[in-house]
Amino acid sequence: MDTSPKTVLARTAEIAIDWLETLEQRPAGATADVAELRARLGGLLPRDGVDPVTVVEELARAAEPGLVAIPSGRYFGFVIGGGLPAAVAADWLTSVWDQCPALYACGPAATVAEEVAGAWLGQLLGLPPHASFAFVSGCQMAHLTCLAAARHHVLHAVGWDVEERGLNGAPPIRVLVGERRHASVDRGLRWLGVGQASLTVVPADGSARMDVTRLRAALADGDGPAIVCAQAGEINTGAFDDLDAIADVTAEAGAWLHVDGAFGLWAAAAPRFRHLVHGVQRADSWAFDAHKWLNVPYDSGMAYCAHPDSHHAAMSVTADYLIQGGPGQPREPMDWTPAFSRRARGFAVYAALRSLGRQGVADMVERACDHARSFAEGLAAVPGCQVLNDVVINQVLFRFEDDETTDSVLRRVVGGGEVWLSGTTFDGHRAIRLSVSNWQTTDRDIARALDAFREAASHAGAGRGGVLPGE
Ligand SMILES: *Cc1c(COP(=O)(O)O)cnc(C)c1O
Repeated sequence: MDTSPKTVLARTAEIAIDWLETLEQRPAGATADVAELRARLGGLLPRDGVDPVTVVEELARAAEPGLVAIPSGRYFGFVIGGGLPAAVAADWLTSVWDQCPALYACGPAATVAEEVAGAWLGQLLGLPPHASFAFVSGCQMAHLTCLAAARHHVLHAVGWDVEERGLNGAPPIRVLVGERRHASVDRGLRWLGVGQASLTVVPADGSARMDVTRLRAALADGDGPAIVCAQAGEINTGAFDDLDAIADVTAEAGAWLHVDGAFGLWAAAAPRFRHLVHGVQRADSWAFDAHKWLNVPYDSGMAYCAHPDSHHAAMSVTADYLIQGGPGQPREPMDWTPAFSRRARGFAVYAALRSLGRQGVADMVERACDHARSFAEGLAAVPGCQVLNDVVINQVLFRFEDDETTDSVLRRVVGGGEVWLSGTTFDGHRAIRLSVSNWQTTDRDIARALDAFREAASHAGAGRGGVLPGE
């Protein structure tokens, strides 16, 4: 059995390169169904092992028809980025080096790479220089981290130590969220003992933004500890809450302001779009992803907090066997994350930022937004198609004259394999969402997407009769 790194990793690199180099000729979506994938990958675990090269070759062969072309510029599903070459390469090294940045002692270089990348990100996105941060698996865990800090902070202010005493008997916390919030906000709150039914839901205006007048009224309607969750970049429309106005009313009420900026916070890095997040630096915490718009491989998200003491109080942990420095000692990542052991995600983020520079990040964000806009403009000429959102950033939301036509056009486009994207239900109607988050998307990819929609719309007979809803 040849287990030498040279044999195993060199063969793996060949397989990886072959996949990337043939991506453009491949269908954007998977071609195998779940039964086929189970048949290809399944069976009983054999008694004896096989050599690593065989494992990798067989795994790659079996998985291939179930792989989605996420790294390609023709993937427009959900909000999912690809992988910048430097980030993918650094991610490989991350596995090979196998560092555990829980503590400085387990991964000195890994913790310092996080320290540097964390500071770079904060500067790039205009967050306060004193903000603390944590590298987590994604925006969901960033919400958990930030909202745990928020829970500590608002209860501490009324003399309740939630880490010590828990929530039993604690003063109630009012949590105000926008109607169009992402589901991960609710889930993060749930884990922190804030149930769904206790949320105060602030209605959205016609552009999917939190109605600030209603927020002010809702805040005035009660007192005590309060947390407001606002959003930069709504999942379907890309809409941005008016963060500056929300910061005003939140400050008046003495509430904590958390911002879900999963992808939208990246607007702060792009001069042409920075106005969308005006006032964002006034928030108390921020959650966002690196695996979406920064184009770092999965998984990678960030939590920032303007109150390091509250962040630390909510997350830190000690045990006799751990080696943790005190003041003046290196940063101990474990004190800021919900994870104990974890992947050294800082290397890939560091590499992505280093390879792009500030200008490169701005270009990548602006390019994606331009592609989204040109796609939306192209859609205007597709019979029966209606763009539903104000295309402020990289998201386009559209539909055809009725739910059935919308779903059938989407099915045909996805079935054709040229591009991949998915549907949603928006305001009670079926709709299609396109997100341009990949660094590689080109004009040609947008043209291919438009061709696919033109063909499918014509096949479905879209636009031949009837009146569009809302017209
Ligand atoms: C993707 C997304 C999330 C969840 O992020 P994960 O990285 O999947 O955990 C939260 N909020 C918004 C607006 C998102 O787009």
